[in-house]
Amino acid sequence: SDHFIDYPRTPDDMNWEQYFGPSVAGKQIEFLDVGCGYGGLLVKLSTLYPEILMCGLELRVKQKIKALRDQHPGQYDNVCCLRSNAMKYLPNYFRKHQLSKMFFLYPDPHFKTVKHKWRIINTNLLSEYAYFLRPGGIIYTMTDVEDLHNWMVQAFEKHPLYKRLTDEELATDPIVPLLGDTTEEGQKVNRNKGSMFPAVFMRLEKPRT
Ligand code: SAM
Repeated sequence: SDHFIDYPRTPDDMNWEQYFGPSVAGKQIEFLDVGCGYGGLLVKLSTLYPEILMCGLELRVKQKIKALRDQHPGQYDNVCCLRSNAMKYLPNYFRKHQLSKMFFLYPDPHFKTVKHKWRIINTNLLSEYAYFLRPGGIIYTMTDVEDLHNWMVQAFEKHPLYKRLTDEELATDPIVPLLGDTTEEGQKVNRNKGSMFPAVFMRLEKPRT
């Protein structure tokens, strides 16, 4: 479904001004929501971190951010949502160690074993994400599917460049309470009283030995 995606050849070719206006000059995107859906998390983060540029990538365009900007001039200027395939094109948009936070909220579970290669958290992609994340950067995951949760956790725990954060470490992070129900999928899970399995990982400076 990504035949018509328009993506830059390299990060240098990307015109971010069309999304953020001229104030973007000299700044880089720091937060990336992968498969952002309608962008509910980004909308929340936008006002919590007004100085930080953030962006969502989504295969199917369904964002609300543009309408919000039109309704609230001067707000939500630090956030945008692009139609793109995050499994293919991250290197076209982002540079090494550019990102401080990445979000994967309610990723598609791809239940069947033959489809596991389509899971957006897998060993190869974790290496790619580590390239874009700065040391100390954080990946947040959330799902209502326990099997997918276990899959994601084992992929991170196998990877030498990540460490899972403990509940005590998460308790002081103001973003953690937003993971469950600020997105449309999260609200649906909440309404249906589904489970929530959050897991958060830090990108290490050097591979674990
Ligand atoms: N994170 C949102 C939320 O919590 O409401 C959306 C969750 S939805 C279950 C998963 C989303 O990931 C879908 O909107 C889908 O289009 C998007 N997606 C799947 N693969 C993707 C890819 N390779 N690149 C970008 N988006 C992708």
